[in-house]
Amino acid sequence: MPSVSKNPQEIVTQLRNTFNSGKTKPLGYRIKQLKAFKCMIEENLEEIAKCLYADLHKSKFEAIIMETDFLINEIKYCLTHIHEWTRTEKPDKIMANLLDSVYILHDPYGVVLVMGAWNYPLQLTLLPVIGAIAAGNCVVIKPSEISSATSKFIADYVPKYLDPEAFSVYEGGIPETTELLKQRFDYIFYTGCAGVGKIVQSAASKHLTPHTLELGGKSPVFIDSSVDIETAARRVMWGKCANAGQTCVAPDYVLCTRDTADRFVSAANKVIKEFFGEDPKRSEDFGRIVNDRHFARIAALMKGCDIAVGGQTDSTERYIAPTIIVDAKPTDPIMQEEIFGPLLPIVYVESAYDAISFINHREKPLAMYIFSNDSKLVNTFLTSTSAGGVTVNDVVMHLTVPSLPFGGVGQSGMGSYHGKASYDTFTHRKSVLHKDLFILGEKLGAARYPPSSNGKLKY
Ligand code: NAD
Repeated sequence: MPSVSKNPQEIVTQLRNTFNSGKTKPLGYRIKQLKAFKCMIEENLEEIAKCLYADLHKSKFEAIIMETDFLINEIKYCLTHIHEWTRTEKPDKIMANLLDSVYILHDPYGVVLVMGAWNYPLQLTLLPVIGAIAAGNCVVIKPSEISSATSKFIADYVPKYLDPEAFSVYEGGIPETTELLKQRFDYIFYTGCAGVGKIVQSAASKHLTPHTLELGGKSPVFIDSSVDIETAARRVMWGKCANAGQTCVAPDYVLCTRDTADRFVSAANKVIKEFFGEDPKRSEDFGRIVNDRHFARIAALMKGCDIAVGGQTDSTERYIAPTIIVDAKPTDPIMQEEIFGPLLPIVYVESAYDAISFINHREKPLAMYIFSNDSKLVNTFLTSTSAGGVTVNDVVMHLTVPSLPFGGVGQSGMGSYHGKASYDTFTHRKSVLHKDLFILGEKLGAARYPPSSNGKLKY
């Protein structure tokens, strides 16, 4: 059972008192907290790996490269740039302001709520917190109850490393989160599915609270016939099989010609064996589906499909083999929802233009992937489609570049984070015009005063 020690109102009141005291604003305080945050991850790698294995059968290798290293690198990047990011901005002035000071101050929002999802339960819950701390906020952290071992780790360790007067973890499921969302926050950062995103948005609208929604969707891959198919297969299958396909930016489906599909299937079959051996179920490197509900949902998506590779399941372990489905039809159930599992349908298209049209007739995806050596074709994709982010000739990797803002568009989300975008997300840019009270300025500005009868207007 989740450990909910205080009620949400008490937590928010306590954090608001801390925020109003100004404690979290000095740069030195923020840096100290960020360094403690980094120690929390570095000193507890074994414990974290155990929690991620318990929740998702995540291998230690995946836990490190996709969760803990991600956090450590983000903190390092933030500490390198925080002096530059927090500097007061001096924008251009116009003639009328030559005697004035014009600048932009960076204000933290106040008490912010960060809600994480279960699929990368450590990284997705804590990465936004780095930006919130860097910007000087107090934070309520709400891990997903579905990944309960990692949720408990966060609840146990955050108070040991971070200032408990400013950072609080609130665990729980739907009833607890519903209570939490009744509180007035100054910013809400949510990661998860669109359905809950709407609940969060409606709670935010009650207090006109600004928010970021990091959602999901069906991220397409286009494979041009000219590419080296083995490299494309290795990269696509890595992105599809990581965390057993439970990755928000996992390649959801492939668009290519029938001929390219044949070559892709045979290369992908080889790649799966390279990665996980003859039986992926026995590999330490292949994960499990998070719970029975998702297992049943994903297994049902395979029904009636033309399975070219994989297709095996074991409900006792919630195991679903890496699976490739050929000749998927746009009307098939597997093409109606985000798969969020290790199934890769291939939809045949006649040309790149068909693929563009296919993508444009659906919701804007969180990510789009194009494999092609033809830069004109790549450019056509980039300029004729909309997606949260794109990796060309690979998958998933755009989110590892800290200088690239990460986020969705349309149904895949709103707002972005990572690197400076995280700092910006949790910062209000306060515009200041600072005038003096000297006579010269008063004379120069006198034209605005009534009466207007003396021909002040030129038109
Ligand atoms: P989830 O069930 O863990 O929910 C996310 C958060 O919402 C949790 O903190 C949970 O407690 C809370 N929640 C759940 N139901 C609620 C309710 N009825 N009322 C209030 N709060 C509630 O995660 P999920 O939604 O299953 O996550 C999977 C989805 O998230 C996929 O669509 C995936 O693509 C998306 N996702 C997006 C990103 C991204 O960065 N854009 C990352 C990971 C996952």
